[in-house]
Amino acid sequence: MTLEQRSADLARFIDAGIRDIADEVAMQKLGAELARCVPKGSLWTLSGELGAGKSVLVRAVIHALGYEGRVKSPTYTLIESYDVTGQADGRINSIAHLDLYRLQDPAELDYLGFDDVINDHDLVMIEWPEQGGGRVPRPDLHVSITYAAEDQRRVEFSTP
Ligand code: ADP
Ligand code: MG
Repeated sequence: MTLEQRSADLARFIDAGIRDIADEVAMQKLGAELARCVPKGSLWTLSGELGAGKSVLVRAVIHALGYEGRVKSPTYTLIESYDVTGQADGRINSIAHLDLYRLQDPAELDYLGFDDVINDHDLVMIEWPEQGGGRVPRPDLHVSITYAAEDQRRVEFSTP
């Protein structure tokens, strides 16, 4: 798949706008689908209240890109990094997963080397981007998840 095709696939997600998700398995399938069309150098942000399913989606993306170990929650570490060199189709070699929920002050991102983290990974996914103030760059894809009922979720794609 060429970069143009990947970008076009991602554009289709954005154009489709909304996806209704029936349960956790469907959310994991969505993650695998998204993983197939992520161009190298992508930044995604994910919003939604606690327990919405942001981490479930991110975890599915990371696994679909070939990481076989446990995907830890970056709630306390803020950043978890994954090396998937040679996995999947070899297009994405490194992934960063950030969760800024516990960030006290956006300035903390400077100490974490936030800019380098963004530049040094092929795919960066950030939960709670709102907490980063203006330091989180404009994403290639923004994912917003809301509760529908019980296990049902509504996932909305956009490019802010
Ligand atoms: P967040 O990262 O948004 O705070 P998590 O992904 O950590 O949320 O947790 C989502 C929780 O909701 C998990 O306990 C998961 O089992 C549950 N869940 C139920 N239905 C779904 C669904 N359709 N999609 C994602 N998670 C679901
Ligand atoms: Mg989470």
